[in-house]
Amino acid sequence: MKSEIIKIAKDNLADIVGFASADIFEKDDPIFKIFPNTKTVICLAFRVLRGIYRGTEEGTTYYQYTTMAVENMEETIMPMAQIKVANYIESKGYIAVPQRRHQQIMSEENSTNPEVAYDAVYRNKTAENQMNFTNSAVKCGIGEKGLSGAILTVDFGPMVRYCFILTDAQIKPDDIEAPHLCDKCGKCIKACPGNAIGKDGIVDPWQCAVYYNGANGTKNPFMPPDAFADFDNRIEIIAGEARVTPETAKKILDDIFFYPPAQHAYQCSICGRACDTACYMHLEEKGVLNKKFNRPFREREEWKFDIESFKNKGEEV
Ligand code: SF4
Ligand code: SF4
Repeated sequence: MKSEIIKIAKDNLADIVGFASADIFEKDDPIFKIFPNTKTVICLAFRVLRGIYRGTEEGTTYYQYTTMAVENMEETIMPMAQIKVANYIESKGYIAVPQRRHQQIMSEENSTNPEVAYDAVYRNKTAENQMNFTNSAVKCGIGEKGLSGAILTVDFGPMVRYCFILTDAQIKPDDIEAPHLCDKCGKCIKACPGNAIGKDGIVDPWQCAVYYNGANGTKNPFMPPDAFADFDNRIEIIAGEARVTPETAKKILDDIFFYPPAQHAYQCSICGRACDTACYMHLEEKGVLNKKFNRPFREREEWKFDIESFKNKGEEV
């Protein structure tokens, strides 16, 4: 049954398939509230094409990452693979409970998900029963948790997305490799255009939301020079140096309409997940990723607009 599950998942574009016994989850883990008879947790991980990041790396097209690497993966590719695997499990007389991250449900009160519009996020008690996706992926042997919180895989580094199936079928679990990829280099922290990641690796979700959406003008080709004209600290915001609260973040986000969002409340990523690409480049340079490419991810110096251009034009308005 295990080899058939792996085959179906891979035939449907999953790249990594991991299995964990429910025995290694705490007794109060949400998986047992979702499906008390869970015996095995199956994780399906999907590569995000390296070429999808080209647009933000070159500063040219930005829509591709959001549509192809976020929306299409979450809403089409991943559920399709999940349902095919789940159908197979149920054809064998077992129950299959697909679990994907609901992008608009947050477990923490007053938090947000940078990938979707903040006013489309539901912050209510039902979220308590969402799986802990990151920890579950580690338990399934998909990869390790890096300093920034991203799952790092030996094949694709942090360039993956993943989902789960809970089942009452008892399936042989996979070994969990000892963490060896993240060396705490801090490049993910440094790469963020909005200083959203603390030294301890904790991501401030509102700070991330603001800069994921493109508030840093030095890394946003679509920002007009007079952006954020109504903000006293507009240059701080544009330079990526402002610290936001949930309230100020919402005001800034309301003022960002330089580039259209996608469907399903997904917001366009202007930062291009700079934290993940910095990590990817670091792991690539170290030669620790199994999947090799003929060309390095970054082939020339990183581009950046001059903050001075916003100062001058802003004052003229
Ligand atoms: S960039 Fe460095 S510190 Fe950050 S997750 Fe990757 S390896 Fe770890
Ligand atoms: S680089 Fe982008 S996704 Fe990563 S923490 Fe910063 S704003 Fe968020």
